[in-house]
Amino acid sequence: MTEQEDPSRERLKNHFAQRVIHQARQILEIWQRLQGNEWSPPDLAELSEANQRLLRFAERFEQPEHSQLARAISDALQHIDANGGRLSSTLISDLNRLMQRLSRTGLRHGDQLEQTFLPPLRKPVYILLQDLDRAERLAKQLDFFGLGAQSITSVKAFRSAMVERLPAAIVMDVDFSGANLGLELAAQAQLGLEQKLPLLFFSLHETDTPTRLAAVRAGGQEFLTGTLEASSLMEKIEVLTCVAQYEPYKVLIIDDSRAQALHTERLLNSAGIVTRTLIEPIQAMAELADFQPDLIILDMYMPACTGTELAKVIRHNDRYVSVPIIYLSAEDDLDKQLDAMSEGGDDFLTKPIKPRHLITTVRNRAARARHLKARMVRDSLTGLYNHTHILQLLEDCTFRARREDRPLSFAMIDIDHFKRVNDSYGHPMGDRVIKSLALFLKQRLRKTDFIGRYGGEEFAIVMPDTDQEAAHKVLNTIRQRFAEIHYPAQPTDLCCTFSAGVVELKGDTDGLIMASQADEALYRAKNNGRNLVERYHPARPIATICMELQDSVTSL
Ligand code: GH3
Ligand code: MG
Ligand code: MG
Repeated sequence: MTEQEDPSRERLKNHFAQRVIHQARQILEIWQRLQGNEWSPPDLAELSEANQRLLRFAERFEQPEHSQLARAISDALQHIDANGGRLSSTLISDLNRLMQRLSRTGLRHGDQLEQTFLPPLRKPVYILLQDLDRAERLAKQLDFFGLGAQSITSVKAFRSAMVERLPAAIVMDVDFSGANLGLELAAQAQLGLEQKLPLLFFSLHETDTPTRLAAVRAGGQEFLTGTLEASSLMEKIEVLTCVAQYEPYKVLIIDDSRAQALHTERLLNSAGIVTRTLIEPIQAMAELADFQPDLIILDMYMPACTGTELAKVIRHNDRYVSVPIIYLSAEDDLDKQLDAMSEGGDDFLTKPIKPRHLITTVRNRAARARHLKARMVRDSLTGLYNHTHILQLLEDCTFRARREDRPLSFAMIDIDHFKRVNDSYGHPMGDRVIKSLALFLKQRLRKTDFIGRYGGEEFAIVMPDTDQEAAHKVLNTIRQRFAEIHYPAQPTDLCCTFSAGVVELKGDTDGLIMASQADEALYRAKNNGRNLVERYHPARPIATICMELQDSVTSL
């Protein structure tokens, strides 16, 4: 009997695969925790032990991708050992790359793993609302967004769920199980936890300041009122649970003294922070574009220019207005420090500085900046990247693709006859279709793709490591599936289609040119009857175009 014909064997294989995934998840949790820790030897030992377990499971249950990753992680950890336990940017980055790959195993859509129904890597979100139906509905919607959610209906059930498994986040009605009792329940749940859980409070009605204060004291990080809407809730949860925070913080140090810079690097590296040093301040803008740091540490006095001058230059670029700049200098004149702060700096640290002080300041500032950035770059209706940001990502990806000599594709999507949807079914229905397409794209595309809302009913997708044919194939499947969705409505259900244009990076084009090429292909899809995905074709010879024109004139 072949494997296909033996369902019990398939099931068993799935079961074992899930054990491996579970172990991988544990490693990622430790990795995530490390981003806020000291990276002490016990931290690293814990990571190493968990990884050995992954290696054993993966080998026993024949999961080659995981075995290979676990072996690579083990090598990376050994390199740290060999370095006398001292971390460096390269070592941290190597380890991070492996963790990113690990986080994508079992999550990728559209490849063979999809058929094995592996559970998502993330823990569930517990939802506790007074209105049980609403909680149930919300949990279903969050599930649809790819976020495991569980509605919990009683205090008892909540307590036992907390013992069984800690959630990724808690959404708690302030009045769950009685007026203001939700607040207390959440506060109790946080007691004795080593790491506080992301906690979002909800109140059906607008509340007074004392209630909001109580929510803050109970550890609430968000306070939501009115209609609890799945997509915006998901966005908040995503920010709080820091899905992207597997990434170590990146700090650019600009200092003309190599010795001083090296000292700062060592301190930050020891806490798992990736650094780069720039001795020549003049190259700052190129370095910023390439490295994309979360934070900049700037020396006050350098021969080529002063720190404050450089801070101004950096702030002139819209892209870097919110990157925190910290001055690190021996300058102890308070007036001069204040001047520097008013010129684009965010903080002033004086040398010599205690390692802990430096690390904590850097971490807090970088975390806040990431948080803010996550809000700034997202579209509020769909939670996707906004127009400006998706174009920036496209630009970044073109540089990377060229440097690493890898393919890169870009696609533009536009919903067909969308005006009619609004006209016949109303604007809210239109919004629903937009959101559902956003969701659909999130679920069906790879985790490594970037999805943006380009305009009203237009979307843009950056697909690294993907050639035009592969991009075309994926989008065509999504197009077919999307057309099958029925939106319940009166008098008849609504169905929508979209058209798309795809293009691959070629020659010395840039992001903007790719965007206009994709647009051109999209335009052709619309002209050819809509509900189509078209590839971009480089300009045809003038002679061909003239012939076509002639043909169309004669056919008139
Ligand atoms: P085509 O197939 O050629 O793309 O036709 P279309 O009707 O989709 O194209 P058109 O660009 O003429 O119309 C787009 C409509 O989308 C116009 C605008 O009212 C609507 N729209 C834009 N943004 C939003 C939004 O956020 N929500 C809703 N409901 N409608 C929007
Ligand atoms: Mg349009
Ligand atoms: Mg349209």
